[in-house]
Amino acid sequence: MATFPNSIPSKLPNSGTTIFTVMSKMAQEHNAINLSQGFPDFPCSEKLLSLVNKHMKLGHNQYCPLQGVQELREAISEKMEKMYSAKYDPDTEINITAGATQAIYTAITALVREGDEVIVLEPAYDCYVPAIKLNGGIPIYIQLKGKNFDVDWEEVKKVITQRTKMIILCTPHNPSGSILTAGDMQALDKITRGTDIIILSDEVYEHIIFDGYEHQSVARFPKLVERSVIVYSFGKTLHATGWKIGYCVAPENIMKEFRKVHQWVVFTCNTPVQYAIAEYLQDEQIYLGLYGFYQEKRDYFIKLLQGSKFKVIPASGSYFQLLDFSSITDEKDTDFAIRLTKEFGIASIPMSVFYHKPVDEKVLRFCFAKKKETLEQAAEKLCKI
Ligand code: GLN
Repeated sequence: MATFPNSIPSKLPNSGTTIFTVMSKMAQEHNAINLSQGFPDFPCSEKLLSLVNKHMKLGHNQYCPLQGVQELREAISEKMEKMYSAKYDPDTEINITAGATQAIYTAITALVREGDEVIVLEPAYDCYVPAIKLNGGIPIYIQLKGKNFDVDWEEVKKVITQRTKMIILCTPHNPSGSILTAGDMQALDKITRGTDIIILSDEVYEHIIFDGYEHQSVARFPKLVERSVIVYSFGKTLHATGWKIGYCVAPENIMKEFRKVHQWVVFTCNTPVQYAIAEYLQDEQIYLGLYGFYQEKRDYFIKLLQGSKFKVIPASGSYFQLLDFSSITDEKDTDFAIRLTKEFGIASIPMSVFYHKPVDEKVLRFCFAKKKETLEQAAEKLCKI
């Protein structure tokens, strides 16, 4: 086939296809149990499905306002107040998005300019850096420390310059499952006081946190709220990642800029789903029950792995479990992840992909948002290695 133009200079020369797509495809091709990409393998609620259907039949099938369906923004506003004692105006400070990834991309595009520096804590979820780079921003990397993936705030403070525009947080953390504490938030507050730094806080696993810990949302800290965009995901909370519905909250002056970009990226998101979620969320057990639901899965998966050669790296949140395989092989994590999929029938995510530099700690990430039987079958295979 003739090609024109002969070569297209890439705006993202170092980006391949995201690891989640790569590993899910490999899992499918090799008929492996897919614990790689994070998504539940059990259905979402029948009641929620009926509500979507109900709102479709009621005729809620056309564009909604660009900021999202009013009822849903009101439900979110109430939820933010109930959970975090934070007041967000549904008209001016809340926006529905096509998933958290779109919210993150849009926030970065609205706020980061050519030459701006953005502090990224590594390991980092894979959508942050490409968004920074596409907007001419410069990622400044800080490594999380030790087995708890702690933030060294002194180190963060040291890299802050006049050009620092944003700090990106993720708690509960993907991929490590670590969580930020109130002390972390206070340290962040201290180092950002008197600056124009914006915080972009990815809190999509807000309701998946274990062992009695409380989610320390940025929203709990009034001084941080003033400078923050916080991103959430209904996909995670409602077991419906394929619906691609999320939202973000921010003070009015930041949200104004966010919306200017949002309208050109997607304009609005799926209408009937938003109506359905607004109604469904009236029952707070839907999200308050997630802690126990997922803690049981995490504990069960860990128990099933007792006696295997994998070493469990303890975590306090998210639906991911890190496993250290250093006593099994010296292979690179990427190679081992491929071999595990092809030869042993288990797909996972190699941790090294979450770093910009070659780091290989011989660790893989496994998603335990799965049915009991799936976890049992997976553990049986892992225990044989
Ligand atoms: N958030 C999901 C994960 O970490 C993946 C989402 C995606 O595939 N983009 O596995």
